[in-house]
Amino acid sequence: MTTNVEAAWAALEPLTDPEIPVISLRELGILRDVRQGADGLEVVITPTYSGCPAISQIEDDVRATLLASGIEARVVTQLAPAWTTDWMTAEGKAKLHAYGIAPPHQTPAGSNVLRFIAQPAKAETVPCPHCGSSHTVESSHFGSTACKALYKCLDCQEPFDYFKPY
Ligand SMILES: [Zn+2]
Repeated sequence: MTTNVEAAWAALEPLTDPEIPVISLRELGILRDVRQGADGLEVVITPTYSGCPAISQIEDDVRATLLASGIEARVVTQLAPAWTTDWMTAEGKAKLHAYGIAPPHQTPAGSNVLRFIAQPAKAETVPCPHCGSSHTVESSHFGSTACKALYKCLDCQEPFDYFKPY
């Protein structure tokens, strides 16, 4: 049984976010669990922002990948606890950054008390993923998708997406 679980994790590892092809579903925290359920293997996924339409495509990708690998499993979409950007792995955040998307800040549940107190609705500084400058402005609260805000760097003049903490 354990081998099935491991085989499913291995088979699903190459699956990436439909919108951000450099980050895997596991790194993004969407692929939550592979477990032995009462009636067989279950793959648990949690959608990111409810506004993101990608989840049905993700479900299809997961099903197709399992099928192609000869693994029988049920895809379980789990809505609670709700997905948070804190589930994104450090590896995943580094990949986002390398892709030119500013990774999300840790939400207040993290260890940074100062950030918790100071947590502003708008005034947070998002460093430019291209040149590292913190001299950036939000140009649109909704970037290429609802999950991202569009920022512009005032130093290198490059626009970039910021993956909003959630
Ligand atoms: Zn810049």
